[in-house]
Amino acid sequence: MIRLYCATGNAGKLREFRLAANHAPVQIEPVPGYKQIPPCEENGATFAENALIKARHYAPYVDGLLFADDSGLVVEALDGAPGIYSARFAGPNANDAANNRLLLEKLRGVPNRAASFVCVIAMVEGGVEKGIYTGRVDGVLLEEARGPGGFGYDPLFYYPPFACTFGEASEEQKFVVSHRGQAFRSLLSQVL
Ligand code: IMP
Repeated sequence: MIRLYCATGNAGKLREFRLAANHAPVQIEPVPGYKQIPPCEENGATFAENALIKARHYAPYVDGLLFADDSGLVVEALDGAPGIYSARFAGPNANDAANNRLLLEKLRGVPNRAASFVCVIAMVEGGVEKGIYTGRVDGVLLEEARGPGGFGYDPLFYYPPFACTFGEASEEQKFVVSHRGQAFRSLLSQVL
């Protein structure tokens, strides 16, 4: 069994990663005492830089392999925004509802609704970079939220092959195609 530490305080993300690793001989553990460790400033210019900053920051607190992810929504008509600023699109302490509201406002009357979710995972061991893994999924932004599931921009993100939004899809369905699922599966294929 291979142990992988995951640098996240987001229980939803941890659950998604564990779901993906379900049948693989890997055990995914949160970083012990994650909430007590002072957070790092994610001041990179790209998803990959931020994922690596996060992974390197938490590496000294564990013994062995550790990974961190950075992800976000990239909107074509907004020149790639909110991108790496997805979590704080509407301000430093913005919640999902405020971010979604701002996104809808910016896209009001805009015919090009194309958007992608992007995820980059960085894996390190003792602070040394072991790999960078990327995933991306393309969809279309609706004009109003649909579905109670998921988090973040999921209820606005319509995924044509499912004929529903990620907010309407189950967690299992979403992870099969999602940006995070793709990036994590490529990490697994290197580790196993
Ligand atoms: P971070 O990767 O924790 O920095 O989060 C980035 C932000 O991007 C989240 O707070 C969400 O707003 C958005 N995001 C990333 N992945 C997803 C997803 O799978 N669904 C919906 N929103 C997402």
